[in-house]
Amino acid sequence: MPELPEVETVRQGLAQWVVGRRITTVEVRHPRAVRRHAPGGAHFADVLAGRTVTGVRRRGKYLWLPLDSGDAVIGHLGMSGQLLLQPADAADELHLRVRFRFADDGPELRFVDQRTFGGLSVSAGGAELPAEIAHIARDPMDPEFSDDGFVAALRRRRTEIKRALLDQTLISGVGNIYADEALWRARLHGARPTDALTGPAALRLLGHVRDVLGEAIKQGGTSFDELYVNVNGESGYFDRSLNAYGREGEPCPRCGAPIRREAFMNRSSYSCPRCQPRPRGSLRG
Ligand SMILES: [Zn+2]
Repeated sequence: MPELPEVETVRQGLAQWVVGRRITTVEVRHPRAVRRHAPGGAHFADVLAGRTVTGVRRRGKYLWLPLDSGDAVIGHLGMSGQLLLQPADAADELHLRVRFRFADDGPELRFVDQRTFGGLSVSAGGAELPAEIAHIARDPMDPEFSDDGFVAALRRRRTEIKRALLDQTLISGVGNIYADEALWRARLHGARPTDALTGPAALRLLGHVRDVLGEAIKQGGTSFDELYVNVNGESGYFDRSLNAYGREGEPCPRCGAPIRREAFMNRSSYSCPRCQPRPRGSLRG
């Protein structure tokens, strides 16, 4: 599943290729791809025809394209979504769901999604910040993210640290992989209670989250010379830089203890049993 670094990579690629271009026609090829647009696919296409894209922005894993009309196109990639720039004469992808053509006859924007958990919609008046996604907190790479605000809110929560990192209303864009990697760097077990975390420890953890995401964005964002903006949910970060995630039984790069895997919210958490001791009294202890 694409996480923040992959979505940011798509955002940067789109910003290079679609900003300033006027949409002529939009073709909705599968209604499921625009199911979140309540007035339906024909309306979706109608309100976009003739509009110019003025930017490409992101909140967590949502992208939006502000338009000169004051509206915005919201996009979420779901599990398998891709936003591709393709020459108009390129063959249609098997799972092509929505096609945008532009007045300059340049490359088309295509939304391709095999499983169609992702989708597009138009947010009326949403150019600045679509109301549909306003409840999602800023992510730590956002210049307006408040470190002090985050630390205060985190310490007020009565929850476990990893659950808090995955809570999109507190901080967005931190998926399972990046949470595990940041916790490993911070030497914290994810089941530690947030209200027992000191302010400096919370700030250090936030710094590690930001480092992990920043490194992943850097690794994912190197191929913009190509027209084809691809997201497959697996940046090079997966293979090269993971210290804990997916490494059950392999030695901790810091201390050599075998990395452990624990069940977590229908998924898995990976951590070092020596560097990241489980908190006392933890349910799984
Ligand atoms: Zn270790």
